[in-house]
Amino acid sequence: MSTVACASKVNIRRFGQTPSGEAVDLYTLTNGKGMEATISTYGGVVVSLKVPDRTGTLGDVVLGFDRFEGYLKPPPYFGAIVGRYGNRIAHAKFTLDGVEYALAKNNGENSLHGGNRGFDKRLWTATHGTGQSLELTYLSKDGEEGYPGNLSTTVTYTLTGNNELRIDYAATTDKDTVLNLTNHSYFNLAGQGNGDVLGHQVTIFADRFTPVDKTMIPTGELRNVQGTPFDFRQPHAIGERIDSGDEQLLLGRGYDHNFVLNRAGPGLELAARVAEPKTGRVLEVLTTEPGVQFYTSNFLDGTLTGKGGKVYGPRSAFCLETQHFPDSPNKPDFPSVVLKPGGHYLTTTVYRFSTDSRR
Ligand code: BGC
Repeated sequence: MSTVACASKVNIRRFGQTPSGEAVDLYTLTNGKGMEATISTYGGVVVSLKVPDRTGTLGDVVLGFDRFEGYLKPPPYFGAIVGRYGNRIAHAKFTLDGVEYALAKNNGENSLHGGNRGFDKRLWTATHGTGQSLELTYLSKDGEEGYPGNLSTTVTYTLTGNNELRIDYAATTDKDTVLNLTNHSYFNLAGQGNGDVLGHQVTIFADRFTPVDKTMIPTGELRNVQGTPFDFRQPHAIGERIDSGDEQLLLGRGYDHNFVLNRAGPGLELAARVAEPKTGRVLEVLTTEPGVQFYTSNFLDGTLTGKGGKVYGPRSAFCLETQHFPDSPNKPDFPSVVLKPGGHYLTTTVYRFSTDSRR
């Protein structure tokens, strides 16, 4: 059920209902600068994100579905809040305070994106909305999907006056638990459904990445990107090296790897920049997180039809999922993902849009 305080300027409409009959709403945020974001209470999904190109023409830059039912099918996680644990946990288990916790094996032997019914498949409560921001809350009960602790989660989406979609994640727990929240938007800066993203120019501010084994679990190594197709410290087109035969790219069927961000401190820092030459649209990603999963939608294969009847073919989008590193609960050397009672999980990620006037 959605309960919004200060609803005066909020644009709300019905999206559909869950199989158990609960109403799902869409909230549209605007910022007076032409940018518009529409967010669903189901999964906290960013259903559409309209941003201007260099001529001022608005385009929807995220993949998704027109009808709510599209989001009930087996997921590519389009636009969703992912939790409790974004990305993979090896062998679907981890040990915390001497207790072993078993999770759903929903990705071979591993657990992916919070299990069978993660945060992307939950109905969130809209607790506060203005024309520019929306606060969503979800209480994940002790033992849900195998994770310990009652976890009280708040995700706030804000469209700023600077054409940014800002996402603030907050959580508290009543028992030690592990947590890694992200958003799984699939971007195509030429407009969703407008071909592949191989010509997008990507910069990732990372000297190292975490190579994976054949089940896509990090080996534990933090590998220098120097001399590899993972060196995005200067801009490179996504398509430039993606089919180079590199062993890591073969394992991921493209880019599907966590980059270790170069950080000066704990604050909000630039993680990546993506520029689309034809429209001039530029996306900058800023985050407080230590990592980002760069994923080139390697599993889209043209079998999904999305918004406006567009068919989503191979590599028709990219994701930049800000995060702690995959499998951190089993990797003591990775930054900790443990949240304790009394502690406050607070992370922020900003997707900032602008245009580049160069042609
Ligand atoms: C993962 C991919 C996965 C995709 C969709 C990404 O975050 O890294 O391996 O296929 O999400 O589930």
